[in-house]
Amino acid sequence: MSEPAPKPEAAPKAGVTAKPAAKPKPKGPATAYNPAGVSPSRRRRNKIAIRLWSVRNARFFEWFYNHFANAFLGLHPLLKRIGYQRAEAPVKFVERNVKGFLFDCRMCGQCILSSTGMSCPMNCPKQLRNGPCGGVRANGNCEVEPDMPCVWVQAFQGSERMKGGEKIMAVQKPVDQSWRETSSWLRVTAEDAAKREAAREARNSEAAR
Ligand code: SF4
Repeated sequence: MSEPAPKPEAAPKAGVTAKPAAKPKPKGPATAYNPAGVSPSRRRRNKIAIRLWSVRNARFFEWFYNHFANAFLGLHPLLKRIGYQRAEAPVKFVERNVKGFLFDCRMCGQCILSSTGMSCPMNCPKQLRNGPCGGVRANGNCEVEPDMPCVWVQAFQGSERMKGGEKIMAVQKPVDQSWRETSSWLRVTAEDAAKREAAREARNSEAAR
């Protein structure tokens, strides 16, 4: 059987100039290195699976974190004696590895996991800290990384499982980049200890009057 002859291209109408074919977009300067399939935050598939598991267990992590923060606060006198600066390297090592494993933590230094359903907002390719952008796909995935569930859809689902889930409505400050690669655990402990000491001093001065 002979193949059908290809259709002849339609001739442009009289008086109408045919559009030139769109030029392919330039892919940047041609060099020996062309990265392929690079994720904006270089995440791995198994990391996403663990992160989603943590969000599914947000209620447990909320409970654990509350107790853990209290226990850490109890260490304040010791930390003060040995010096927070000296404690920083080992604490940071543990924090990076534990939170990196469970939440794909990016060490922003100002952790808001307990306000975001245990879904780390720094894994959003746009690093949004106050809810999703307008590009969430119909299946709940990210517009930048179509294979990744949107961090903020996960955050809302995780918050619904938490006792203090309404904290997700709090407006977060922009990320202070000068705190990157510092320990959130130490910072929160030192802040809480300072607040506790200030409250104690206020009570004492009230009693002395
Ligand atoms: S909010 Fe910051 S400190 Fe908390 S898990 Fe995410 S990157 Fe790490």
